Order: sequence, then structure tokens, then C-alpha cells
Amino acid sequence: MAIQHISSLRCVVCGETYPPDNRTTCTKCGVEGILDVEYDYDKVAKTLTPLQLAQRPHWHWRYEELIPVDFSLHLPPLQIGYTPIYNADRLAEWAGAHELYIKDDGRNPSASFKDRASSVGVMKAIEYHAKTIACASTGNAASSLACFAAAVGLPSVIFVPEKAPEPKIAQLLVFGATVIKVKGNYDGAYDLCMDACEKYGWYNRNCAINPYLVEGKKTCGLELAEQFTDMMPDWVSVSVGDGCTIAGVWKGIREMFHLGFVKKLPRMLGVQAEGCKPIADAFHSGQELVPVDGVTRADSINCGTPRNWRKAINAFRESKGEVIAVSDAEIMEAMNKTARLSAVFGEPSGAASVAGIKRAIATGLIKKTETVCAVITGNGLKDVKAAIETAGTPITIEADLRALDGELKKRGVV
Ligand SMILES: [Zn+2]
Repeated sequence: MAIQHISSLRCVVCGETYPPDNRTTCTKCGVEGILDVEYDYDKVAKTLTPLQLAQRPHWHWRYEELIPVDFSLHLPPLQIGYTPIYNADRLAEWAGAHELYIKDDGRNPSASFKDRASSVGVMKAIEYHAKTIACASTGNAASSLACFAAAVGLPSVIFVPEKAPEPKIAQLLVFGATVIKVKGNYDGAYDLCMDACEKYGWYNRNCAINPYLVEGKKTCGLELAEQFTDMMPDWVSVSVGDGCTIAGVWKGIREMFHLGFVKKLPRMLGVQAEGCKPIADAFHSGQELVPVDGVTRADSINCGTPRNWRKAINAFRESKGEVIAVSDAEIMEAMNKTARLSAVFGEPSGAASVAGIKRAIATGLIKKTETVCAVITGNGLKDVKAAIETAGTPITIEADLRALDGELKKRGVV
């Protein structure tokens, strides 16, 4: 059982440690006291070796020593993680990068990175004998949770902000979740979900306050290390909303470094939207985070009150990284170019990582000789409206070859 490898839960604010139980935050620090799961790495190193890994199935449970779930329980059968990495040379040329890799996490079961956390979430709910699992989400975490709740046969209740895109709501309903649309923004949905979980005894999948779920997100970093081995890029770019995704990816890479799987650590590039960049502002000012009313087309990173900003900022500091903001226009252009030049269709929040790389190269933050990897965190079909906006319109004609010929010539296609 992998759970035996955990040594403690450590508060990211005061450093206090606790035994690995079902508490979510530090007793001394309250909700600000997010906990981080720590492992006995000497024990982990005994069985998590390249030789052992080579014999395990290609899904994210392959790193079981570093995932805090009870592996004696029945795992959901869905293929999670071990998503492909592509060398995108034409996209690299567009971005001005020496070498640019894409890790396509839109290929997970519900088409987003969040499946890594939701799969851990449902396993913890089963372990704690919860009868229902709930979450508040801007979209992807919700559809992912609904998907994994369906996979293990657990009822789910999902709180979404009123403006969540329709395809994401459709996913929730298809998987059989009870969907509560909360008027206002994400923060209202988040608070209501917290209250409801307390009142009804539901398992709360909200990553921000759940130390175990970010461990699922970590598997993306474990994979980056295993897949790149001695080719680890100089930079890894991830879009930033709440902060726990990039914190998870960084933790995974750091753990694999600690275990000797990689010799080099990348610098983490966090990318926020200009209309919602509280973490970038906090990082650059060195002050406490100031919540904002976010406005951006990249709905999955539109998080004005990020709960995990401390973990994210630690990731930038530890990796000698940086967090920048890009405009919606840059995000939409990156979405379009990533699809056309690397054939990976990312949603705006996913493509923001590519927009960030282009901007960082243009400003000299990333050198033209450096290698980079962008994590595409969600599939473009999640936000079809955004795709259509950037992609142009089809050519409508009569069913007539001469009409076709005329239109094609007009556009220089033939
Ligand atoms: Zn504390």
C-alpha cells in the first residue's frame, strides 16, 4: 500500500507537521495553512526504480509509492496520465524557441489535466467511506470529477459558476452529476460547496484545501521527468489559475530529481491571463496576495481568489522560475497556432502556456538557445466558441464543381 510511504503532512505557512490523517488544513493557521504531503523517500527509492517502472502499465498509478491512495482498493479502470510529449518544431519556429515540446494532457479521460486529481479524489472518498463527493469548479475539475465518480459508481454534486461554458456543463450532466449553477463568480460557488460538504458530510474534492488531490496533479511532473529523462527542457510552462496545478507539476519533477531519475531541474514558467493575475502580482510585489475580479476568455484560469498561491510562488522561487501574464488576444492566437502548427487542440487556458513561451522569448526571459515544454491542460473541444472565434468560417457553396473551383481559386487553395 502506497499510503505507507507518507511520513507527514506539513503546513506551508508555519511548517508544523501532522500525521497523515483526513485533516485538510493546519490547526494553527486555519484555511491559510494548506498542507503538503511528505514521503519517506528512502523507502520510496527501494521500489520506485527505472527497472520497476519499466514493468508497470502506462497510466499515472505507475508511481504508486508517491500517490497517497490505498492501492488495495479497486482503482477506476480509466486510462489516466502518461500523456504523450511531442517535439513541435513548426510551433517552435513561430514562438521563436530553440526547441518546443508539447505535453498533451487534453488526452485524459474527461479531456483535461484535472483527471489526475479527480482520480485521487474518488479514491480518498471511497477510503473514507463517503457516500457522495462534491466540488466547486470553473469547469474542468467538475467534469473530471463527474467522470471519475461515474467510473467508481459514486454520486457527485457539482457547484459551477453561472458563466461556465456549455460543453463543460454538458459533460457534468452526461456523467450523471447533480449540477448546481451558482449565480455570480467562482468564489461564491466555492464557498457554498465548502458549507454544503460540512453540512452533509460529503467528500470535498476542492484541490486547494485538500492536501491529497494535488498529489494527483503531481503525476504530470513525475511523467515529465520519466519521459524526458536526460532531455529535461530548460523551462516548463504551465498556465496558472488557483496555483495548485503548477505547484503539483513542480513537486513531481522535484521528487524525481531527488530520486535520481533526472539530473537537471527545469525553471517553471507560470502563465496567467492579464485580466486575472493576482499570483503574478503577489510574486512580483513580494506582498500577500490581493484577490481580484478576474476577466478573461481563458475560463479555467479565471481564478480571482487563488487558494494555493503560496505553493505556486514557492514553485517559482525554488525553480528560479517566473510568472508572467499574457493578453486574451495572445492566448487566442496561441490556441490557433498550436492547433495548426503542432496539431494539438488546446482550450484557451491550455494554450496560454504556449502564449507565455512566445512572450517570454520576446522579452528575453527565455533565451533563444533554451528548450521549453508547454503543458496543454485541456482539450479545445471544451470551449468550441473560443475555437470558432479564432479559426475563421467555412466556405458555403452550391453542390457544383465549377462553383468549388471558383471559390478555391479565389482563396489560392488551387
Ligand atoms: Zn500552520
